[in-house]
Amino acid sequence: NLRPAPMDGEQKPEFDRAMRPQMLDDFIGQAEARANLKVFIESARRRGEPMDHALFHGPPGLGKTTLSQIMARELGVNFKMTSGPVLAKAGDLAAILTNLEARDVLFIDEIHRMNPVVEEILYPALEDFELDLVIGEGPAARTVRIELQPFTLVGATTRLGLLTTPLRDRFGIPIRLEFYSTDELHEIVTRGARKMGVEATDGGAREIARRARGTPRIAGRLLRRVVDFAVVESDGRITQEVADGALSRLGVDHLGLDGADRRYLRMIAENYQGGPVGIETMCAALSESRDALEDVIEPYLLQQGLIQRTPRGRMLAQKAWIHLGMAAPEVKVE
Ligand code: ADP
Repeated sequence: NLRPAPMDGEQKPEFDRAMRPQMLDDFIGQAEARANLKVFIESARRRGEPMDHALFHGPPGLGKTTLSQIMARELGVNFKMTSGPVLAKAGDLAAILTNLEARDVLFIDEIHRMNPVVEEILYPALEDFELDLVIGEGPAARTVRIELQPFTLVGATTRLGLLTTPLRDRFGIPIRLEFYSTDELHEIVTRGARKMGVEATDGGAREIARRARGTPRIAGRLLRRVVDFAVVESDGRITQEVADGALSRLGVDHLGLDGADRRYLRMIAENYQGGPVGIETMCAALSESRDALEDVIEPYLLQQGLIQRTPRGRMLAQKAWIHLGMAAPEVKVE
């Protein structure tokens, strides 16, 4: 499986780290987000204040974690990282918050999966840099207020819609990350190959970029696999021919779709004459979780204009029929 699992926030592979850009100027793509962040970072630095809380949202692998680390580095502060599902109890979050130094960046991945009890104690922390903790139980219980160092929270989520309104409202800087263009991914693959000490021709790098589903993390993974094929079955150079051969053998087609994507499209085509099909039906038919479909598979298919979301469910677009090499059914006359 070349795709990040929707819930793999914890396990970011080693090579991800090696390929990570270190400063804002090394970060390719997301031009608008980058330009705005530059201003907010500079302003916070000049005023000597923590940057306002930021919320990054968008599909997995687009650089939410990377951008947050860059922010901390550019601000010259510590970077602490945790994730929503890991913070089970109020005390878990309290332990992290009380350890922050002034203006530090705290990154919470998958913030939409935070326990509501933990979320409650986060509100005053975000607004007033204060923590209200209840100590003890029953009649002896009392609340203690702890002052925190002013800090910046960066939340990341693949599902903006699952955030509660009060939490969403506390982020002064909401940023949506977009899929990358082929040119941007081309640059990322070229730099990645250079970091790995591998020679990639222009055509070879472009072939990987075109088939990376608009996602830097996937570009990185495909690059590693193509390198394997290049080393073992060729002269170690990534040419277009080597890339094309390797990617085809990995089941990544010319649009960058893999087996899971094609299974999704074929299901709607073959079993539902192109739809509309409700999401719950799709989950059952494909034995996939709703998160996997909505976070990982669908965003790219939608962006590519292969499917449409309608109030009655998902429908195949003309482009998907062509891609599958199938004829769309005749328009039904009701
Ligand atoms: P997310 O947090 O959105 O899931 P990450 O920040 O973990 O994504 O990025 C996934 C991988 O993609 C990392 O290896 C990172 O180095 C790489 N990456 C992401 N964005 C870029 C970029 N703009 N330029 C180069 N590499 C990137």
